[in-house]
Amino acid sequence: MTSMTDMINHHLTDALLMAYSAGTLPEAFSLAVATHVSMCDECRARLGAYDTVGGALLDESETATMEPGSLEATLALIAGSEEARGATAPCQVGSTDDVFPAPVRDYVGGGLDDVKWRPIGMGVKQAILPTVGDAEVRLLHIPAGVAMPDHGHTGTEITLVLKGAFIDDQDRFARGDVEVADEKVNHTPVADIGEDCICLAATEAPLKFKGLMPRIAQPFLRI
Ligand code: ZN
Ligand code: ZN
Repeated sequence: MTSMTDMINHHLTDALLMAYSAGTLPEAFSLAVATHVSMCDECRARLGAYDTVGGALLDESETATMEPGSLEATLALIAGSEEARGATAPCQVGSTDDVFPAPVRDYVGGGLDDVKWRPIGMGVKQAILPTVGDAEVRLLHIPAGVAMPDHGHTGTEITLVLKGAFIDDQDRFARGDVEVADEKVNHTPVADIGEDCICLAATEAPLKFKGLMPRIAQPFLRI
């Protein structure tokens, strides 16, 4: 039996992990990064290394200004958040709930059955998750064998597979895999024939769809 991590072939970039560690990512991207990290031992280890380096730099710059007792307070905070993580970590028993890792469950306020989908054409559905800032993060439900509407980006896009798989160009992305695209990429991910695909996608700016209908619909659908 192989663990989920053994099957993840597409990972986060160093730039994204570094920015997440430094706390400089918009909320939408933080959610996508946190979700992949929660599924991927390899990226969790890489993130740990950045956290250590960042923590050491912070120690150096803040040692002089630390109040008495602040170290204890910080450690208590960390202990508290570890407890909170531990409380949400165990897998929920149940079929559909296994689709969403804890970070996504928090934003959805539950499991797959709690998502408020909106159709965006060709059987594709989306649900934009509430975040602050210009970046947006959405859940996408793409029926088996159907292509994402043809689109470009004005910035970085992270697409993380939560269920099923999609093919983009020659690459196959399955549960846990993450595709990082930028404005130079015009791609058309197509869901696998066998199963509907559910993805979490974070975009720096609204997607630019190229077909006439999607472009007309864009202001209304916020895609
Ligand atoms: Zn990874
Ligand atoms: Zn894209």
